[in-house]
Amino acid sequence: MATAVREISHFIGNAATAGTGTRRSDVFDPNTGKVQAQVTLGAQADLDAAMALAVKAQIGWAATNPQRRARVMFNFKALIEKHMDELAHLLSSEHGKVIADSKGDIQRGLEVIEFACGIPHVLKGEYTQGAGPGIDVYSMRQPLGVVAGITPFNFPAMIPMWMFGIAIAVGNAFILKPSERDPSVPVRLAELMLEAGLPEGVLQVVQGDKEMVDAILDHPEIKAVSFVGSSDIAHYVYRRGVEAGKRVQAMGGAKNHGIVMPDADLDQVVNDLAGAAFGSAGERCMALPVVVPVGEKTAIALREKLIPAIDALRVGVSTDNDAHYGPVVTAAHKAKIESYIQMGVDEGAELVVDGRGFSLQGHEDGFFVGPTLFDRVTPQMRSYQEEIFGPVLQMVRADGFEDALKLASDHQYGNGVAIFTRNGHAAREFAARVNVGMVGINVPIPVPVAYHSFGGWKRSAFGDTNQHGMEGVKFFTKVKTITQRWPDGGVGDAANAFVIPTMG
Ligand code: NAD
Repeated sequence: MATAVREISHFIGNAATAGTGTRRSDVFDPNTGKVQAQVTLGAQADLDAAMALAVKAQIGWAATNPQRRARVMFNFKALIEKHMDELAHLLSSEHGKVIADSKGDIQRGLEVIEFACGIPHVLKGEYTQGAGPGIDVYSMRQPLGVVAGITPFNFPAMIPMWMFGIAIAVGNAFILKPSERDPSVPVRLAELMLEAGLPEGVLQVVQGDKEMVDAILDHPEIKAVSFVGSSDIAHYVYRRGVEAGKRVQAMGGAKNHGIVMPDADLDQVVNDLAGAAFGSAGERCMALPVVVPVGEKTAIALREKLIPAIDALRVGVSTDNDAHYGPVVTAAHKAKIESYIQMGVDEGAELVVDGRGFSLQGHEDGFFVGPTLFDRVTPQMRSYQEEIFGPVLQMVRADGFEDALKLASDHQYGNGVAIFTRNGHAAREFAARVNVGMVGINVPIPVPVAYHSFGGWKRSAFGDTNQHGMEGVKFFTKVKTITQRWPDGGVGDAANAFVIPTMG
């Protein structure tokens, strides 16, 4: 007898809601390759149901004083900490990243919640007393209303928290449309926000795919959309959302370069690279899938040290505490990664370590890909130009500093980049001149801390505002500026009433 598959539904109002959609999508256990649940793929009617509650709830929430709103964030932080193990296991079971890394995913999101705990201070406006005779000018930041977030599979806790942590703290209601590949943690986060004291309807989760995304983009009551995912979809979301008159920020894909200068500490670099290229099976938008040794000597020495480090990597199930990384998210993604490896071979790159055909005993149907290293990759190769998003490290040799700088600057993606060097001048020059949004100096994954902001350049981000920190506050609020005068009864100069007022 077939056993019923667990169903993952929307979170509308204060509870899981099956909704009206009849379509479903499989959610896998990437360790075994088996379907472990099915997620409802929602339709317009489900969004409408959530929106009716959100529009009402937002009015009361925006009128709640900021200190009380912040207290919900404090409570939520405590609840996340209390449930950390449970959340990490749930996340790992659908995504496939190892437990320690799943905790990191949650923790990085939690740090944005910590920032949001200070929202009363951040929301204080500006004030000028006496901007003109008897005139004061002040500004206030007000919430937009109901806003939405559409998130990718690779950080199912962090990225939703980047968005809703700020959006809700400043007084908006938030509709979250998570990835259909690992939708359980976002629902759990919404439950915990409710437990933390958030009123019903302020944070809701609608499940779905393109149909739900389009419904969000076209909904007249959704004032802003924050998106994170692959670049073609980010561009689509940006265009359609802006066309509908919304504020949109849409973060896209990446192909981050690690520049290794001849004076770098190579042992340190190899250690950093192994984690940054292969951690989370390379499924990070801030992974380092391209390494650029500067000079032939650097390339030879680096390659010599890299090979044994890669051989020593342990690929295992996501609950294996000794594993460096686990399976990739789906069979389709595994096939895509392996097709890029074949493409690299066909294009003439040197395949030094081949991760295809990797099989884990007892988990032969799991979505595992072994670590892969290519050398002599060139900028003309499609496998270099496009994002692979797997445990594949490509070495592109550069003759000098200027060539390395040009490689990272010319690439279609501009999310992150790192330079490894002991030379402060070279690092300073690099940081100032490179055409990339986030730079690490001897830091392999330069994800900014929560009170700074996150965002790439070029095809890694559409729109002009970054995620979290003050940029996030700006994205999710609008500024109102008030000019006030309290006349004392004298009418003033009638002729001057027809001239534009100046402060001259
Ligand atoms: P994805 O683009 O497939 O999906 C992202 C979201 O878009 C999901 O919610 C999905 O349901 C929705 N979606 C999928 N197809 C759609 C379509 N045709 N029309 C409308 N919506 C659609 O991305 P993913 O595979 O889940 O995530 C990995 C990608 O995200 C990588 O490219 C990675 O670099 C990128 N990413 C970027 C950042 C960043 O901040 N720049 C952070 C994390 C991940």
